[in-house]
Order: sequence, then C-alpha cells, then structure tokens
Amino acid sequence: MNKTKKVAIFGSTGSIGKSALDVLKRFKDDFEIKALVACKQSKKFLRQIKEYKPDYAVMADMKAADEIKNSVGKIKTEFSAGNKAVIDLAKRKDIDIIIMAISGASALLPLIEAIKSSKTIALANKESLVMAGKIVMNLAQKHKATIIPVDSEHSAIFQCLEGKKYKPARIYLTGSGGPLIKTPKSKLRNITPKEALNHPKWSMGKKITIDSATLMNKGLEVIEAMHLFSMPLDKIKVLIHPEAIIHSMVEFSDGSILAQLASPDMKLPIEYALSYPERLKAVAQRVDFIKNNKITFLEADISKFPCLKLAYQAAKKGYTYPIVLNAANEVAVWAFLDKKIKFTDIPLVIKKIMKKHKPLKKYNLKDILSVDNQARLDAQKIIERLNSRC
Ligand code: NDP
Ligand code: MG
Repeated sequence: MNKTKKVAIFGSTGSIGKSALDVLKRFKDDFEIKALVACKQSKKFLRQIKEYKPDYAVMADMKAADEIKNSVGKIKTEFSAGNKAVIDLAKRKDIDIIIMAISGASALLPLIEAIKSSKTIALANKESLVMAGKIVMNLAQKHKATIIPVDSEHSAIFQCLEGKKYKPARIYLTGSGGPLIKTPKSKLRNITPKEALNHPKWSMGKKITIDSATLMNKGLEVIEAMHLFSMPLDKIKVLIHPEAIIHSMVEFSDGSILAQLASPDMKLPIEYALSYPERLKAVAQRVDFIKNNKITFLEADISKFPCLKLAYQAAKKGYTYPIVLNAANEVAVWAFLDKKIKFTDIPLVIKKIMKKHKPLKKYNLKDILSVDNQARLDAQKIIERLNSRC
C-alpha cells in the first residue's frame, strides 16, 4: 500500500480489539496505531499503551481510568477518560481508519461521530446497525464515510459483491450453530454460563458468545445485513453450517452463487477491512480442504432457539422493534451471565418487552436512545421478578 494509514481501535482490550492489534503488528509499514480505546480493563489497557505507544488513549470508565492515569502520565501518550472523550476521539482529523469493536449499544454514538467526520470505519459492532441502521447508512452516504463490515458473514457478502453493479437475488447467511447446536431442547433451561460460553469454532467476547448460543447473533446479523446491503428480510436466508468454512454466500438472478471461504479466524475480515480495496499477505491460517473435507448445511431450529424467531419478528415489524429487541437481549444476556436468570429466560424477557412495546413510526437518534433506555429499565424489572422466583 502506498501510504501509512493511521488507525484507531475502539475496544482494543476485547476479542476483536486484540485480533486487530495482532493484524496491525504484522503490517507496521502500512499502518500506524494512532489511538486505543477501552472501558474497564485498566491493567490490560496500560500494558497495551506501553507496548503500542499510541498518540491517544481513552478509557470510557472514569474509575478504571483513575487506576492507571498516573502510570500513563509518564508515557508520551495523551490520556483522557469518559464517554465524551471517546466521542471526541472519533472526530479527530489525524485518524484515517476506526476499527469499531466496542461491544453493545455503547458503540452507536462514537460510530455516528466517526461517520460525520467522513472516516473509513471497519465495523465489527452489529448492535449499532440493529438499533439505528437507517440513520447510520444514510449518514454514511451523506458524509461520504466508508463502512467496511468486519463481522465475518458480512465481510464475506461484501467480498462476494465487490465490483458488482447488480444486486443479489438472495443472501445466505451462514452460522456454525453455536455451542448448543447438539444439546437437546429439554436440557437448555439448565445450561450454565460456562457451558454456553464454550463455542466450538470462534473465540469471542462473552456477550456475542451467548448470542451465538441462543442464535440471537444470527438474528442480529440478519438485521445488520438488511441495512448494510439494502436487502429485504425475505431475501436473507439463515443456514446452519457447523464446519464454519463458508462465511456466507450470495445468489444472483440467474441462480449462480458466490461464496467466501476461509478458516474461522476474525483476523482475516479485520485484515481485509483494513487493506480494502487491496489485499495483504495472509495472517490467518489457510484452508486445508483435505483436513476440512466436509461442508454441510442444516435448517436453523427456531422452536429450539426462539431468539432467532424474535429477531425475525422485530425485523418484519420494523420501526423501533429492533431497538427494543437489542436492548432487552443485551440486559438479559448479562443477567444470564450473572446467574440471575436461566438460559431459556433470555427469549422470555425479550418476548415480554416486544409485546409491551408501542413502536414509534418516526424517530430520530434521541428517540432511539430513549426507546433503548426504557426497554432496558423494563427488562431489568422483568429480570428482578424472574430472579426472585428462582
Ligand atoms: P469484547 O467484550 O471482547 O470487547 C468489547 C470491547 O469494547 C472491550 O475492549 C471493552 O473494554 C470495550 N468497551 C465496552 N464498553 C465500552 C464503552 N462504553 N466505551 C468504550 N469501550 C467499551 O467484545 P468482542 O470483541 O467480542 O465484540 C465487539 C463487537 O464486535 C460486538 O459488537 C460483537 O458483536 C462484534 N463482533 C465480534 C466478533 C468476535 O469474534 N469477537 C465477531 C463479529 C462481530 P474493556 O474490556 O476494557 O471493558
Ligand atoms: Mg458473525
């Protein structure tokens, strides 16, 4: 590549953040690590600041920032703290690419600012698109910001569609099926967080790993794909593909299908989002087709995994339904991880919140945040009731 690009990682202490650092380390002539953002993991963040010496480092959590601010003071890195500092960093003119790897709804406001300042964004976070896909995509067009998907399925679709002037007739969104694909439905209620976190193919943050176990991850990805590729819901088909070699496929009007295949390693979609429209040398392991000589598909079982059905319902109803789906899910997933509710209570909480929701037909960013906030408060109340039952 002909110019060193200045990169900021928002969420550097997380799973995607660490993989992104791994990728960037290999291409020192192409990229400079200009800024890092984290939230609570102060010790890990301090180690990263010492190792990568970014110009800027921001910790969203003030208390966590206090724990390391004196140590960072001795390093040349400019250190700041708080959510506003995260948003201000997203606006900086001396950053070319932002890897948006903050988890959950907290990514939305920094993402909007990154878009408004016309950045290239390697977008891993999916919740922001589920909450505000239309606003995000319209703003990106208005401000000529480039959004390159990092989520492996969407990166696959993006790669299959690259250079095409026509739209696909259908998208096949593949998924490994998660850690509980073989668990009988009757055993799901008593699944522990440890069991649900044991993903067979991907090593990821806790929230997305539970979403993979409930299949909500696939549901969120359907909504993510609708926005990224302006596709209607009925043209996106989920396929369970346990080997996780095909990362998604697109079918064209004549029935021809293109797929993207690679080892299940997030370093590849991260690398591609950074190098796009060029390609660099392989960081992830290459596929060995003799060792991986089986490619199978299954229908997703929505009666066993009702979260996927709820996501389809929210996508179909539209308006503010995906916002409450996402908010209730996020609160329920953390409550399950904190052992306050059972695994099968996650869809129960979401269903109750969706049933109660009075959708807004017209809404702006402020409305989105307020709908999100209300759904979280309501979900907490339902969880407290379920918890007192246990
Ligand atoms: P992790 O939980 O591993 O990491 C989340 C990162 O975000 C951490 O660095 C965390 O900081 C930081 N963070 C959390 N809240 C805030 C906040 N309010 N302000 C600033 N930083 C914050 O998540 P993952 O890396 O697994 O996932 C990140 C996103 O990417 C998610 O939206 C997920 O759906 C998506 N994604 C992830 C994939 C994966 O393989 N992991 C695959 C595809 C998509 P700290 O740890 O210091 O608190
Ligand atoms: Mg994915």
